[in-house]
Amino acid sequence: MRSKLVAGNWKMHGGTVANRALLDAIVAGTVELRGAACAVCAPYPYLAQLQLLLHDTPVSWGAQNLSQHDKGAYTGEVSAAMLVDFACRYVIVGHSERRALYGEDSQTVALKFKAAQAAGLIPILCVGETLAQREAAITEQMVAEQLDAVVELVGVEALAKSVLAYEPVWAIGTGKTASPQQAQDVHAFIRSRIAARSANVAAGLQLLYGGSVKANNATELFAMPDIDGGLIGGAALVAGEFIAICQAAQS
Ligand code: PEP
Repeated sequence: MRSKLVAGNWKMHGGTVANRALLDAIVAGTVELRGAACAVCAPYPYLAQLQLLLHDTPVSWGAQNLSQHDKGAYTGEVSAAMLVDFACRYVIVGHSERRALYGEDSQTVALKFKAAQAAGLIPILCVGETLAQREAAITEQMVAEQLDAVVELVGVEALAKSVLAYEPVWAIGTGKTASPQQAQDVHAFIRSRIAARSANVAAGLQLLYGGSVKANNATELFAMPDIDGGLIGGAALVAGEFIAICQAAQS
């Protein structure tokens, strides 16, 4: 039986004063969480604050991106080892905003996935289709291409030490959530594609749904058999919403 994970993606939001209030509330509100884990992925400058406020709590933390390179002349980049320095557990890779706005292709995402794991981080690999791709009935093809690029680079067994997030691009930050059945269908497809290479890895893999998850739709989504929690954007910035979503993931 897979446990559930709810991870917040703060995107480019935050400030030390507001962060403290939000993190204190999340810690207090999730202290009795059962059968589900909770994590927060914040902008780089706040990782030290997360480490300070979240160590010795059940809430894990992580970053939203990393460099595929170890070190060197890459101005503005942040390496996996640097994230480990701040005791990050997770790092998001391949978020659709990075693919669309920063030109990250699936090969680059795969290299980032590999760099994260090599440093001992757990990558949260995002895959998903745009609205045009869904309407063209190529959702599975797009998701498969994004997933296969990683599997081809690192091998299917490496997925055992990762988390996957299916995030339909048309549902991110739009208020349009995939229906539980739409999400389940893609999750089942992803799991079966991985199962074709390793039934064990597929059975154990945490597969999150992301895209306008809120307190009022989380329970229904998380009840689907292949949905093991959520990657939460906007609602992760509102303590009451985020806590309620974490509670919806409890067994
Ligand atoms: C995200 O940024 O990964 C996300 C799912 O955002 P939102 O919940 O706001 O749609």
